[in-house]
Amino acid sequence: MLQNVIKVCEASAMLLRPTRGLIALQRRVPLEEVGEWVWCDLDRHIDGDHYGWVCDAAPDGASGADSLWLVWQSWRGPLRVEPHGFCRDSGKALGVDELCWLPARHSGEHSWQRYLSAP
Ligand SMILES: [Zn+2]
Ligand SMILES: [Zn+2]
Repeated sequence: MLQNVIKVCEASAMLLRPTRGLIALQRRVPLEEVGEWVWCDLDRHIDGDHYGWVCDAAPDGASGADSLWLVWQSWRGPLRVEPHGFCRDSGKALGVDELCWLPARHSGEHSWQRYLSAP
């Protein structure tokens, strides 16, 4: 299992207060409910943006997105908050009863592949 954990990207970013405020507004929740630190949820990667799950999208979100993701390239680089649907790739064929919860068209492996025991 430890092997699997190490595979995950270790980048993190801090949500600045104005960004948290916007998210709170969009979701109609108090500011305190929007966390400050976000970790990249992708597998370790060299290129491309980091994607960190922030929170569920607003229930009536017209975009049809499942969640809000913080997207960034490097420490101190610009942060973007983007709505994305889940990937939803199923691990059932390989014996994992779970759908991938990473953002659609993510890089690296599906989230459920982290639960596969090493061969
Ligand atoms: Zn990353
Ligand atoms: Zn996936």
